[in-house]
Amino acid sequence: MILNSRYPKLNSKLYHQQQPSSLHGAKAGHFNAALANTLQWSEAEKDNWVALCSGQQTLNDFEPLAMVYAGHQFGQWAGQLGDGRGLLIAQVQNQHGQIIDLHLKGAGKTPYSRMGDGRAVLRSVIREYLAGHALNALGIASSNAIGFTSSSQKVQRERAEFGAMLLRTADSHIRLGHFEWINQYAPEQLADFTQKCIEWHFPECLTEEQPILAFAQQVITRTAIMIANWQLVGFAHGVMNTDNLNITGSTLDFGPFGFMERFRPNWINNHSDAQGRYSYQNQPSIGHWNLWMWLNNLMPLAKAEEKEQFKQDLASALEQYEPTFLAHYQQGLNNKMGLPDTSESFDCAMQFLRILQSEQLDYTQSFLRLQQQDYQKLRDDCLNLHQFDQFLAQYHALRENQDLEQLQTTMQQHNPRYVLRNHMAQRAIEAAENDDFSEVDRLFQLLATPFSQHPLERAEDLAPLASDQAEIAVSCSS
Ligand code: AMP
Ligand code: MG
Repeated sequence: MILNSRYPKLNSKLYHQQQPSSLHGAKAGHFNAALANTLQWSEAEKDNWVALCSGQQTLNDFEPLAMVYAGHQFGQWAGQLGDGRGLLIAQVQNQHGQIIDLHLKGAGKTPYSRMGDGRAVLRSVIREYLAGHALNALGIASSNAIGFTSSSQKVQRERAEFGAMLLRTADSHIRLGHFEWINQYAPEQLADFTQKCIEWHFPECLTEEQPILAFAQQVITRTAIMIANWQLVGFAHGVMNTDNLNITGSTLDFGPFGFMERFRPNWINNHSDAQGRYSYQNQPSIGHWNLWMWLNNLMPLAKAEEKEQFKQDLASALEQYEPTFLAHYQQGLNNKMGLPDTSESFDCAMQFLRILQSEQLDYTQSFLRLQQQDYQKLRDDCLNLHQFDQFLAQYHALRENQDLEQLQTTMQQHNPRYVLRNHMAQRAIEAAENDDFSEVDRLFQLLATPFSQHPLERAEDLAPLASDQAEIAVSCSS
């Protein structure tokens, strides 16, 4: 590993340094060797992964730290939050020279734990491990994880569960909520902190006429694209509070997440979200709301005489959020449909989604059938045949005189065969709670190449649970 520690260079008000606290009976869960290789881990470091990933050992030359941040949770100002159960244990250089955070989740209480116990449970650690891996393989900017460990130590949630730790990787753990905390509690740090964010994550903005404005534009663009990508694969983050969105527009802190099965735009995966604030269809507008809250925190950076102009510039930057999102989403959906990128194609895609909604069809599987030109199977699952036939006629008309081979290739690259369905994760969790990690490993392999058929595939990987089976409850409790 090549350490490149920069976060500790920030003012010490912004973090608290401490050692992780390990769990009794720590044991290996799963290890992502390919990711460790991209981070230039030596063979000896790889052999030692359990010690690092269970908090039993830390790296020389980096004193682990909990970051402080604040946030708006479910639309309300929540004041100071911070890493209540995770520590940054290193910043390392990957094979492209990019600096990546190693963050150990479940590493014990910190000054920011509030009422929490500082722990993570095996169930949520496996879900995050597999989902981060799945999102990365789908080409969606996201945190990932080097590995996880389990333990024999009980942690109380709705039931007693096993404590576990996840060694998460991310290009940044700087959240929108970092700016909210600084403005509220240490405003004198804002200028320096913003400058560091730009230098570290958006150096190309430094040469712009207005670096801070350019930085804001970048954060807006990346967030819009990330959320468009979520929508396209049917991913619901579950808890899009401002403390769970980072400034690089890469997916972070997705505890009560889900990949949508039957297509329901108002689908709420997180059972703790009674109002559906973070339902699938609300994600794009919540992204906008979060950015709007965040941009307010940049205002103190303008000189008094430039404040009005700066405010207008930021507002104009935010106006680009919706068109950026829509352009990306439209193009992505047209790619999934195997149609040329036009607004007529997008209308046809919307017609397809209306069918999925009214017939309650599986999102991932239906696109796969379309790609396989298995129109009969799709039609057989419909009650309203007239609606389907009308769609199919329009679909064929739009594909007439197109380069079908090219469109098929595009479809193949944009329609995953595998997403992490809740019931798949659940089976892997139940086995792991009995010390059997083979199902985690099978899913890990499947999700590594989501666009092609894997020899380890089972029929249930491709379909939702039968509609008479109860859905798996996913809540904020993790
Ligand atoms: P989340 O929305 O799950 O990302 O968590 C919101 C805040 O609660 C963050 O500051 C977390 O660090 C903290 N938190 C969540 N679970 C725990 C826990 N079990 N112990 C301590 N802090 C926690
Ligand atoms: Mg969080």
